[in-house]
Amino acid sequence: METVFIDGSTGEGGGQILRTSLALSCITGRDLHIENIRAARRNPGLAKQHLSCVEAACQICSGRSQGAARGSTVLDFYPGSVQSGNFDFDIGSAGSVTLVIQTVLPALSLASEASTVSVTGGTHNPMAPPFDFLCETFLPAIGTGGFWSSCKLIKHGFYPAGGGKITFEVRPRAKQSQGIINLCEASRQFQIKSRIYTAKLPAHIAQRQERLLEQSGLDIQDIEHVEVTDSDGPGNCAMIRICDNKRTTVFTAFGMRGKPSQEVISEVVSLAEDFLASGAAIDHFLADQLLIYMTFSRAGCYATNELSSHLLTNIEIIKKFLDVDFGIKEDGQIYRISCLPA
Ligand code: AMP
Repeated sequence: METVFIDGSTGEGGGQILRTSLALSCITGRDLHIENIRAARRNPGLAKQHLSCVEAACQICSGRSQGAARGSTVLDFYPGSVQSGNFDFDIGSAGSVTLVIQTVLPALSLASEASTVSVTGGTHNPMAPPFDFLCETFLPAIGTGGFWSSCKLIKHGFYPAGGGKITFEVRPRAKQSQGIINLCEASRQFQIKSRIYTAKLPAHIAQRQERLLEQSGLDIQDIEHVEVTDSDGPGNCAMIRICDNKRTTVFTAFGMRGKPSQEVISEVVSLAEDFLASGAAIDHFLADQLLIYMTFSRAGCYATNELSSHLLTNIEIIKKFLDVDFGIKEDGQIYRISCLPA
């Protein structure tokens, strides 16, 4: 089989190109050559989190790599055959644990037996899916396509200290009813809830964020404050959760030194307001993350409120590995994405 050549500067030019490529290389058994890794990022090349993704990909398929070093912008990956098992990955920094899961989950879901995966690193990081999104938004969504897994938070890890841990149980898709992802209808009946995390921070921060949420234009029915006691370092994020009886959409904004609470709350409120006003069924983060799971049935569709560059780039990368196509239809403020055979 021919090696797949990937230009890491394509479109979004970030880490997702690497993760999707590693996942599909494991699944198809095709060698991967990737250049210009994370070319569009402030610190291009492989950081610790990406090296963990490469290492994790090697471990699940007894593969090997060349060029896996800090800052490297070129990588070759030679996959073996995927084997289920018990895996334990430690990123060694606050790198996102959920992004390591994103790398190995597709291939482990297609293996014949169940796997358990534990990952140590950041569980709540800016620019990555927080644990709550993984568990409440992402897993139920891929579950509709027959990819049922479960996850557990063992210890919180906020950026920049990290040190958090999650465990993951992956059930083989072949042993489940293999549905087709169809997330096109927006919820008609839902509740808006909120969750504020603070770790090692003064009490007035959560109190102020709670007040700001109450004053927002959203009809928030419940505000939960989680005072995290097991974290290695300080951390703060505010979430808005749009919950119906089947799914929860989690939006998150992160607090950090020098960023006023006002900004944190208006960021997360805008994300939720834009989503609700559009009438979309799924948010734009989930939209880019679902694509790979639709390819295995060469079918499925969803309606999202933004055609993000992560989404468009991921489509380009997937098409380098698989004979598959995606339809994109604009419909008012909604984009309807469908997966089709090539
Ligand atoms: P990259 O920037 O290429 O490393 O990819 C980042 C990934 O994290 C994409 O799949 C995004 O959809 C996802 N992501 C970033 N921020 C969030 C968030 N707040 N909630 C859920 N997913 C996120």
